[in-house]
Amino acid sequence: MLLEVSAIETFYGASQALFGVDLRVDDGEVVALMGRNGMGKTTTIRSICRLNPPRAGAVRFGGRDLAGMRAFRVARLGVGLVPEGRRCFPNLTVEENLVAAARPGKWTLARVEELFPRLAERRGQFASTLSGGEQQMLAIGRALMTNPRLLILDEATEGLAPVIRHDIWASIRALKEEGQSILVVDKTMAELLPVADRCTIIEKGRTVWDGLPRDLSEDIRDRYLGV
Ligand code: ATP
Repeated sequence: MLLEVSAIETFYGASQALFGVDLRVDDGEVVALMGRNGMGKTTTIRSICRLNPPRAGAVRFGGRDLAGMRAFRVARLGVGLVPEGRRCFPNLTVEENLVAAARPGKWTLARVEELFPRLAERRGQFASTLSGGEQQMLAIGRALMTNPRLLILDEATEGLAPVIRHDIWASIRALKEEGQSILVVDKTMAELLPVADRCTIIEKGRTVWDGLPRDLSEDIRDRYLGV
């Protein structure tokens, strides 16, 4: 098992956000983390990456307990996070953003540019001048340049034009084809479910369902995902 999250509890100051989240991602698996707004998806991701370390429970990655570890060490172990709100260095060019993230492995500048031809076309442009969709591609490209064992995408297609969303989903499917392990949060179920091997649903900071996309019944959708 690549990632194993067991009964984590996470707080913002005195306010508890997670009350027992369980989640696992196997090697080569794409897992969709689902739940309504404010149920704790981003907090779960931040807990895994130790940006908001959990106060109880355990996170194991590649067989190692992450307890006590700093966030940069988790990244170095192979967790590549594309955070909500796509953070790139605005005053660096596309190429500089990518190269700054590089670590040895199969993902190189050339391969990222092959996955996202728009980035190749804009190689010398400052990141601040890219469209929102291009910045999102750059954020994914940066995470890939670290050659992560696990790629985590938090709302990677939110607020983007349909044509760009289409391109990003195509790249996610291509990554899955290559065997990239991915944990993905996204609101567009029509795109998310076909790519997911498994779904984990959280409700009010707790895991309430885990299973195959085809087993997501109407009842479960209404109860946990409906608006
Ligand atoms: P969304 O889909 O809206 O992004 P989410 O499922 O990712 O939602 P979280 O952002 O993880 O949910 O929020 C879980 C809970 O933690 C919510 O009740 C939220 O109000 C609370 N929370 C999130 N960030 C903070 C913060 N910085 N300080 C205090 N409470 C927070």
